[in-house]
This record gives sequence, C-alpha cells and structure tokens, in this order.
Amino acid sequence: MAKTISIAIDGPGGAGKSTIAKRLAKELGYYYVDTGAIYRTVAYFLDLLGISPKDVDGVERYIDELTIGIEYDEDGAQHMIMNGMDVSADIRTPDISMKASDVSAHKVVRDMLLDMQRDVAKKHNVIMDGRDIGTVVLPRAQVKIFLTASAEVRAKRRHMELQAKGKKDTYEQVLAELQKRDYQDSHREIAPLKQAKDAVVVDTSNLDIDGVVAAIRTIVQEKTAV
Ligand code: C5P
Repeated sequence: MAKTISIAIDGPGGAGKSTIAKRLAKELGYYYVDTGAIYRTVAYFLDLLGISPKDVDGVERYIDELTIGIEYDEDGAQHMIMNGMDVSADIRTPDISMKASDVSAHKVVRDMLLDMQRDVAKKHNVIMDGRDIGTVVLPRAQVKIFLTASAEVRAKRRHMELQAKGKKDTYEQVLAELQKRDYQDSHREIAPLKQAKDAVVVDTSNLDIDGVVAAIRTIVQEKTAV
C-alpha cells in the first residue's frame, strides 16, 4: 500500500481546528477526521443511557454496546453515526462538550478509539484534529500543528456559534466552561492535551480564517511538498 500523508492538528477548544482542518482537507483532497466528535458521540451514548461520564464501571459495562460510524456528505462534512443513528447535531451542546471531556479521561474509551483513528490514517491521507493526535494517535504524522488562541478569543467565537444556533448561554458561562475543559484535558493522566515537541504553533488570536489557512498551507507545503 502506498504510504499515506497525515496532518495532525491539536489544540484547545475554540482555537478553530475544525474550521481550518475542514477547509484544508477540501483543498488537498484529504479525509478530514474531527476526533472530538467521536468522543462526543461516546458521551452522548452514555448520557442517553443515564450513565455518568465519570462512572468508570458504568462506562466499562456499556461501552461495548456502542458502534460508531463516520460518514461524509457531499460537502465533506463529517457525520457521526451512533448505533445506526445520525447524532451529528445532538452532540454539539455545552453539556455534551463537558461530558465528552469527562468520558475521554478513561483508558477504556481512549483505547477503543485509538485503533479506529489509526485505521483511517493508514488507509487515507488525513487531516485529523483533536488533543492527542500529534503526541499519541499519529506520532509519525508528517505535519503537526498546535493551534491555539487566548481563552477570551476562543470563548467569544464559541459564544457567537451558540448564539447563531439560538442558544442562550452567556459569554461568561462559555468562557468558564472552556477554561474548565482546557484544565481537565491538559491535566488528565492518559494522552493529555499538549503540544508535540515537533509541532509548529499557530496562534489564531489575531488571524482570520483565511490567514490561518494560508499560514498552515505554507507549513504543509514545506513539510510534504504537495
Ligand atoms: O474538539 P472537541 O471540543 O469537540 O472535543 C470534545 C472533547 O473530547 C475534548 O474536550 C476532549 O476532552 C476530548 N478529546 C480528546 N482527544 C481528542 C479529541 C477530543 O480527549 N483527540
């Protein structure tokens, strides 16, 4: 099999990973994998069953009953399929964000998702975004980007997204939730959010989407000569 190219984009929530990765994947003709959506699907599944995401025994007992599928529509948007049901819209709530962070700390969950993520990258050229892609999932990725921005800028972006969906969360709530999740994701024992040693840091605080895409495109060209 021909060797595939992997681009890993890690960073905290709201830094713009999904937007940027989706755009670049379209330009390059790569698969786009939003790994946060996979953790969100696990959290949503357990939530429907009434299992607390912190209850490791409950998580271990029910996780085998979950089958996760990833599909793409004609626009290249990723859809999450939970036991045959498209839950892509249901997983985008602040409640599921926090529960995904809680559930992602468990070894049983991370182990289950690791192979799934690696399998996609073995078969296709990918842009994968998450928290541990450059450090754990694809340590040999040809390109590693650590995308970041100040907590205030990230919260402002998230708040605007939620407002556009008609949600009533205040900016202060969104900021507090992001900061709590950042802390939790960076301080967990397994695969914490951290910059890979060989990652290039891109701070998006003062860049618009076009600016970030252009900056990353240059890095990708340098490292892969595509
Ligand atoms: O990126 P997103 O905000 O959708 O991720 C939701 C949660 O899933 C994160 O807060 C994090 O706890 C978890 N996650 C992870 N590892 C990844 C991607 C996401 O632990 N590679």
